[in-house]
Amino acid sequence: MELTFLGTGTSHGIPVIACDCVNCNSLTPENNRLRSSVLIKNRETSILIDTTPEFRIQALREKINNIDAVLYTHTHADHLHGIDDLRPFSMNKSIPLYGLKEQLQEIEDRFPYIFNSTIQKGGGKPNLYTTPINKTVVIGKFTITPIPVKHGLIDILGYRINNIAYITDCSKIPDESYDLLKNLDILVIGALRFREHSTHFTIEQAIDEIEKISPKKAYFTHLCHDVDHFELIEYLNKKGLEREFIKKIKPAHDGLCLKTD
Ligand SMILES: [Zn+2]
Ligand SMILES: [Zn+2]
Ligand SMILES: [Zn+2]
Repeated sequence: MELTFLGTGTSHGIPVIACDCVNCNSLTPENNRLRSSVLIKNRETSILIDTTPEFRIQALREKINNIDAVLYTHTHADHLHGIDDLRPFSMNKSIPLYGLKEQLQEIEDRFPYIFNSTIQKGGGKPNLYTTPINKTVVIGKFTITPIPVKHGLIDILGYRINNIAYITDCSKIPDESYDLLKNLDILVIGALRFREHSTHFTIEQAIDEIEKISPKKAYFTHLCHDVDHFELIEYLNKKGLEREFIKKIKPAHDGLCLKTD
């Protein structure tokens, strides 16, 4: 199976509109981050996690030609508002959207034209249906388990797909969820920046979670413009000299593709 990072930036993306900071002016491709999302696929099946406002750009860049299901982490705009660009993928089929029941209801309320069949089709609308997920489901050869996590005060989902887990926009992992995260090959975890934040793990907090979960490899996503990609690698390398497990952590970047069995 293959995991491709479609985007690895926080809600603003990097560069941030109208920001003149060093990282927003960086010409390094790794410091240019679209909103966070991943595509997980094997030969038969393609699963998308979240539809960012840049989903069209991401789909064209990665030459995505099929989506079989979308897993929603939550309904914040940076994870949802590209939903209309599922249109080309749902011309000949209806695509299931998985997520928490209340959040799927919010998607239906926010985009009534998609789900209300009495609203005219006009030039076309995405053909989608919502399906609440509260336990493991199997799609093709993928076994998908929702991982309940906290994003500040709200309950959202991370997902485990076979031996990969994707947890973004998280500020606390409840005790019960750690059981669902054993024996991972890859953990992708949101790590916003070094400074504290009320709804996201900092880089240090994410490192602590990685130590606790102990995956074979870990990648940071949902980074903000405070963080330079290569400075972060250097920081992790230095820390890795004292704490061995930190050597397996890297910041992800847009377009990074990981392959695993
Ligand atoms: Zn977000
Ligand atoms: Zn900036
Ligand atoms: Zn969020």
